[in-house]
Order: sequence, then C-alpha cells, then structure tokens
Amino acid sequence: PVRVRFCPSPTGNPHVGLVRTALFNWAFARHHQGTFVFRIEDTDAARDSEESYEQLLEAMRWLGFDWQEGPEVGGPHAPYRQSQRMDRYREVADKLLAGGYAYPCYCTTEELDARREAARAAGKPSGYDGACRELTAEQKAAYEAEGRSAVIRFRMPDEPITFTDLVRGELTFTPENVPDYGIVRANGAPLYTLVNPVDDALMEITHVLRGEDLLSSTPRQIALYKALIELGVAKQVPLFGHLPYVMGEGNKKLSKRDPQSSLNLYRERGFLPEGLLNYLSLLGWSLSADRDIFSVEEMVAAFEIADVNPNPARFDLKKAESINADHIRLLDVKDFAAACAPWLKAPFAPWAPEDFDQAAFDAIAPHAQTRLTVLSEITQNVDFLFLPEPVADEASWAKAMKEGSDALLRTARGKLEAADWSSPESLKSAVLAAGEEHGLKLGKAQAPVRVAVTGRTVGLPLFESLEVLGKERTLARIDAALA
Ligand code: GLU
Repeated sequence: PVRVRFCPSPTGNPHVGLVRTALFNWAFARHHQGTFVFRIEDTDAARDSEESYEQLLEAMRWLGFDWQEGPEVGGPHAPYRQSQRMDRYREVADKLLAGGYAYPCYCTTEELDARREAARAAGKPSGYDGACRELTAEQKAAYEAEGRSAVIRFRMPDEPITFTDLVRGELTFTPENVPDYGIVRANGAPLYTLVNPVDDALMEITHVLRGEDLLSSTPRQIALYKALIELGVAKQVPLFGHLPYVMGEGNKKLSKRDPQSSLNLYRERGFLPEGLLNYLSLLGWSLSADRDIFSVEEMVAAFEIADVNPNPARFDLKKAESINADHIRLLDVKDFAAACAPWLKAPFAPWAPEDFDQAAFDAIAPHAQTRLTVLSEITQNVDFLFLPEPVADEASWAKAMKEGSDALLRTARGKLEAADWSSPESLKSAVLAAGEEHGLKLGKAQAPVRVAVTGRTVGLPLFESLEVLGKERTLARIDAALA
C-alpha cells in the first residue's frame, strides 16, 4: 500500500511551494487509495512556532486536504510532531553508533573551516574529510579530556549511490560529492538529516515526493536507510520523486520571503481553494494539453507521478487569477453567494451591518459571479447597494461628469421615472432614449448615470444594478448628483 508524507516545518507562514508539495502527495495517495501522513517537523526550537503550526493545520483544512494520520487525527505511529518523538531519535542514534554506522566527530568549526579552505585552494573536494572516521578509543578519550564535545556523524559508504527518481530517472552520486554528515548536534539535538529519514522508516513511508531543493539530501538518506534496514529499524528504502523548482519574478526561485508566495495572500484576496489548487497543480503537471481547468477530483483520478515534468515551473499570477475566475464561474450561484460572505462584512465591508440586504445581494450575485477574478472584489462591486450614498470616487466623477452631463442626467431621470421598473430592459430603453435626445450613444449616456448611482465608472451591468437598487434610491441619487 502507498504511504506518503507531507512533513513541513512550522516556520513562518505557509507558502505556495509547500501547498504544491502537499497537493502532489495528497493526489498521489488518493489516486492509489493510499495513506497521506501529515507530520510536523518541529525539531528546531529556535525557528519553529506554535502559531505557525496552527496556521499549517488551518491551511490544510481550508485547502480540503484530509490526512489519515497526523496531528489531531492520530494514527498507529503517533505522535506526529517530531518534538514529541525525541526518545526515538536518541535510540536510533545510539544503534547507529553501536553498529559503527556513525561515529563521534570532535572537529571544531574552526578546524573544519580551515581544512575546507585548504582543500578548496588545492582544488580538492571540500566536504568533510573523514578526520574522525577511525579514531581509536585513546584518541577519543584524549579529545574528551581536552573538553571537546562531539557531534555524531554518519559514515557514508565508499561506493556511488544510484537511485531511480520517479520524476528525473536514474541518478548517481559519487562518494566525493556526498561526504559523511552530521546527524546529532554536540548538544544532543538530532538534526533534520536524521529525524526525517528515521520517521519515514518508522512510519513505513513508501514514496517521498518533495521539492528539488532536497535532492542533495537523498543519497545521504538512502545510505542511512540501508543502515536502518541492517539494524532492523527500517523495512525498505522508499522511492523518491523530486518536484520541479517554482520560479518567480526575474526567473529566480520563488522564495518563502516573496510576498507572492504567501498562501494567506491568496486566501485574503479571495481565491477559491479549488482555483488555487488547479493552478498549483499546473506547476509541474498537466491534465492534458488542451485543458487547464479541472477539479481536484479530476486531478486525483489522472495523477501519475511519472507525468511530472522535471523542468522548472514558472509561477504566473495572471494565469492563477484567470484560472480562479473560471472556477468562480463554475460555482452554483448559491455557493458563490456563500463564498462571498467574508467580504460582505467587517473589516472588508464599508457599510453598516444593518444596511446589508441579503435579498438585494442574492439578486445581484449572478451578475457579479460572471465578472469577479477573486472574491474580495465583491465588496466594491456591491457597495452601491448598501452604502447610504455612492462612494465619492473623484477620478470616476471627473471622467464621467462633463459638460452636458447635467442635461443628459435630467432627461434620463425623467425617462427613468416614467419607465417600467420590473425589467432591466425598460430601464435600458429609458437611458437609450435620453441619450438619443442628446446625440449620445448608449455607452456615453450610461456613464453619468452609472457614476451618479454607483460612484464609479466601472461596475456590474448597469440596468440590473438599477433594478436591484430600486426606483426611489436611483432617482434620489441622480437628484443628488444634479444638486
Ligand atoms: N521539513 C522538511 C521541509 O519542510 C521536509 C523535507 C522533506 O520533505 O523531506 O523542508
């Protein structure tokens, strides 16, 4: 059975790269009816925070990712927070030491730096040189007597390591490029290099799908895995697949610090989870050459890791928005109205809560649904319905209210007053006729009416807007504009 894991560290805000990794793991698990394990890699007390942990869980829920094992859900390998699993890492580190798979290394940072510099200058590989690999008991005792403390270093095998990456095919790493590496700090704190593969082993992970930035740790982890198998801690080496880099502006890797990469930004702007996931799935994968818009269920049904493209993917905000817009159109209008709810109240909505009118909103919602790119745009589009007066957008007023606008508005007012308010068609005829009297086409005649009533030159279809606002308020706003 397939068992994958998503194992973020709770540092900072969740970002889109992380969501892409979660999505591919989740879709892969679902596709194979496997298990999606959610694990929190919080062994770095200096950088991890409880707030970030809460945000991660909240984000996973908002995105609709369910996990069969993990925080709040539990499971056979609980606990799923590494900070609560320290005794296990200690135990494995002791076994590795006892079996000779790892050794204490007494080199100081200064010594390591000096030797690295010298190796570099001589044009030799500059990784750890194995100085402490074969220390005798006497040498160790002498270092201890000097008061040195030791890190624990894993002994890499002297042969190349080859594995078949699920995305990139066969890869080989030679020993010069993968020197012995630290797995436990001098203060006894286990490092990512140890805890990540140990937990993958203990949790019986079958497939590791993660970002390309972690590719260099894979040969080390495979070697460690082999040791764990010999020690009876692991059953099998998992298969690895490295997902392509995501490139941002200027063809640089999208970094956590890039504001465009923050998941919260997309939530606050009103991306639908399904729109965002659809877009993120395209960062390295595609459903078919001619279909960009699909549901997460369609992705799950079609998702094969072998179809992931190893080449860097480019993050394109415009494309993300356009895909989100398409998902907004696909909603049932009731679901659309419900999804808008957060932006119809404080702190986003500028109107008083008691001025909000659900029936008016429901009447205008279908017209908004065909126009929004992100849900947060709803507030501006409907504020004319719930504010006592239209917004005073100076640029709009300056643009629409020209010489002759007053005369046009007066004519339009008269015709609107006489119109049949039970359909937008008759309101349109009224403004059309007013325009004709002044030698103006509909577009030009409409502009002052729109600004008088909504405060802006752009917005939802005008005659539907007037109908929902109602005759009395429409005429009053035109009067106010003429005053
Ligand atoms: N905690 C690691 C990270 O967030 C996980 C890496 C992995 O998937 O192995 O980068």
